[in-house]
Amino acid sequence: MDVEEFRRVGHALIDWVADYRAEIADRPVMARVEPGAIRAALPEEPPEAPEAFDAIMRDLDAVIVPGLAHWQHPSFFGYFPANGALASVLGDYLSTGLGVLGLSWQASPALTELEEVVTDWMRRMVGLSPAWSGVIQDTASTSTLVALICARERASGFALARGGLQGEERPLVVYTSAQSHSSVEKGALLAGFGRENVRLIATNTTYAMSPDALEAAIAEDVRAGRRPCAIVATTGTTATTALDPLVPLADLAREHGAWLHVDAAMAGSAMILPECRWMWEGIEGADSLVLNAHKWLGAAFDCSLYYVRDPDHLVRVMSTNPSYLRTAMDERVKNLRDWGIPLGRRFRALKLWCLIRESGVEGLRARLRRDLANATWLAEAVRAAPDWRVLAPVPLQTVCVRHEPPGLEGEALDHHTQSWVDRIARSGAAYLTPAQLDGRWMVRVSVGALGTEREHVAALWALMRREAESG
Ligand SMILES: *Cc1c(COP(=O)(O)O)cnc(C)c1O
Repeated sequence: MDVEEFRRVGHALIDWVADYRAEIADRPVMARVEPGAIRAALPEEPPEAPEAFDAIMRDLDAVIVPGLAHWQHPSFFGYFPANGALASVLGDYLSTGLGVLGLSWQASPALTELEEVVTDWMRRMVGLSPAWSGVIQDTASTSTLVALICARERASGFALARGGLQGEERPLVVYTSAQSHSSVEKGALLAGFGRENVRLIATNTTYAMSPDALEAAIAEDVRAGRRPCAIVATTGTTATTALDPLVPLADLAREHGAWLHVDAAMAGSAMILPECRWMWEGIEGADSLVLNAHKWLGAAFDCSLYYVRDPDHLVRVMSTNPSYLRTAMDERVKNLRDWGIPLGRRFRALKLWCLIRESGVEGLRARLRRDLANATWLAEAVRAAPDWRVLAPVPLQTVCVRHEPPGLEGEALDHHTQSWVDRIARSGAAYLTPAQLDGRWMVRVSVGALGTEREHVAALWALMRREAESG
């Protein structure tokens, strides 16, 4: 493809995306395809001869788009909002179009320095002190893995330079709540702690980690000669947006020399609202935290912000310095390859920069406040309806609900829940995800897609009543 052809097709492609977004509400939210149907509609062999780009676009319409769940749909209430605000989509296109890589500061100075600027803007936006330094990772899963590796190396006095964890006499232990995201346990296993040394701490009635249960677990490990290494707290758990109490958790971490990492992947965006910051009170006592700008805030996936209080420690753990990457500037600049796992770095800062500038902080705040008000409205409507229950506090934009008709319990109730959620998904009118809470199925209504207004939430609630109460 030459530049003139790119110009022609590129304009058409932007038009295509604009039409897709403009008309998205007319589509069924969920794909209605059987497993394997998309593969079967595409050739097994790659084309030997060049094809026109228009042919690719035709397949996009005919095969690919019908096989998607439309996350940007205003009636998408599943998982979490993964908002790709259009300004940030353009930032992402720019990053790809520029095709630059940040292997070192020198490899693309503006890539590194814009990342410093936008992570610092975000630090200010969420009210963190200047003691924090940020870097953009791909996902929260990676950020948490990096945090656990840093915790491991701090507790072991850089065991990686000796025999690694295999040379340690006292096992190092990681603590997290039973409601934490699966990426925490996965990170702990990948970082080499071993399942025997990961404690899933009990939660209280609001699904937040119990500091008493944590303290007891730590005491038991210390008695047995093991070493508390890291506590991973969550601000806004996946199932119910529960808020682990950071003040007592930070106290325990300090007392035992353990690393405190805070997973605020989802809820971190809400901290741009001063009225939400009580939710992570104590955050300044943490060693690291992650918040995903690619969720509710609106940066196109992927854009996960990882903040640390001791960047020197991070760099000591992550740095590699082969001769072909060294430059004369190294003493004066940040080389972000030493702030995480991959060497190569996309220009992710552009999409966040475009998002923040085009919305302004006040625009972002207004949208999040709209979503919080919509979630509160829904929770109140559910609470007021006979046989419906809101199962957990609603501090943010996720409402956990169940329809509990008299006489239905246990597996029969599970069956009822799963069947009305499934009917809604298959109707195409809205999309919700079921999840388990206390061993029973419930439904998470995650409010906050870009286009979701009160009317969409009200329509969803009417649909939920119709499907659940008629079943
Ligand atoms: C979404 C989420 C994650 C995982 O995020 P990725 O960026 O997809 O790895 C982890 N923790 C919490 C609390 C989340 O909401």
